[in-house]
Amino acid sequence: MTLQRPENRHQVALLRRLRDDGPRSRAELGDGIELSRSKLAAEVDRLIELGLVEATGLAASRGGRRSTALALSSRTRLLGVDIGATSVDVALADAELNVLAHVSEDVEVRLGPEVVIDRALDLARKLLADEPGTVLAGVGVGVPGPVNFDRGEPVSPPIMPGWNGYPVRERFATALGCPAIVDNDVNIMALGEKHAGIARRANDFLFVKIGTGIGCGVVIRDQVYRGVNGSAGDIGHIQVDDDGPVCTCGNVGCLEAYFGGAALRRDALAAARSGRSAFLSERLAQVGTLIAADVGAAAEAGDPYAVTMVRDGGRVLGEVLAGLVSFLNPGLVVLGGGVSQIGHELLAQVRSVVYQRSLPLATGNLPIVMSELGDEAGVIGAARMISDQIYSTPGGR
Ligand SMILES: [Zn+2]
Repeated sequence: MTLQRPENRHQVALLRRLRDDGPRSRAELGDGIELSRSKLAAEVDRLIELGLVEATGLAASRGGRRSTALALSSRTRLLGVDIGATSVDVALADAELNVLAHVSEDVEVRLGPEVVIDRALDLARKLLADEPGTVLAGVGVGVPGPVNFDRGEPVSPPIMPGWNGYPVRERFATALGCPAIVDNDVNIMALGEKHAGIARRANDFLFVKIGTGIGCGVVIRDQVYRGVNGSAGDIGHIQVDDDGPVCTCGNVGCLEAYFGGAALRRDALAAARSGRSAFLSERLAQVGTLIAADVGAAAEAGDPYAVTMVRDGGRVLGEVLAGLVSFLNPGLVVLGGGVSQIGHELLAQVRSVVYQRSLPLATGNLPIVMSELGDEAGVIGAARMISDQIYSTPGGR
């Protein structure tokens, strides 16, 4: 069973309002939507007929009269899938994008699309099995690399061998029997923060993901800006040193070759083995390996070498961001992704460099903050992205 689609832009506006602001009375629902009372009533009745909206009992309304509250159909379900470099997250949400269930599993994206997508589909089917009688309206999918958005396929993703041109959207749509949408994971995380996180009131902002790699979601006037080929915001491959380490993309001295999760892990292992960091040497001896988060733990514990690693990384990242801020004049910069959690020193360093390097006019009112949603940003954003597509008219409005 598939979900009906809205028929005109008024219905789209009503559905999106119910999604973003929650259940309303008929009178409240019409506020700010330019429709006569009778037209509004007709559109609402039609949405109920289509099964997109339902009456949910009584709500106290203005003027003391009690009226029926309207809400999006309680049977509608959306899936958000966030495929990362080393894990896959799947969440089931209702039409208002409240997460009802969220599961995560370790799987390496380099094992290729068949293996990873099969795992994601297994997780999705398990979540759906617990929800009999509901309608799966769509699935949004994020992948850790550039995506041709119109085709729903990854394009030459550096850390995803075997994924280039793979029909990811087609696979999900066919397997789950619903509309699907695929985008870069950074773009979906940006949308997640926009829908339910710290960027809720921001119309123009940057979301910087520091994970295994580094990328940037660019939101302009509430829309994700993807560029001509879907590679807008791929800041991890901006060169910061023409004599630096070799990057997964084949170039030299890229930002993420300095400061992605993979780079931090490499540097942490080197520091531990050479004895430059006592904390990391000890951790390596205890656990047998190191991850980027260990650098954060070492820095928080005051290990001087680890503090230097975090400061240097924050400075290089801050320099790149200062350029972006001067260029785009965003109203907010959000730092997210696993490595962003390595401690307050990183945020302090990024702030200091951006405020120093960008022009005062661009930074006069520019908060630089941490993601609020953490691991949930991706799945909520993926659900939001497919929701935007479902709650649109065939003409795209
Ligand atoms: Zn690179």
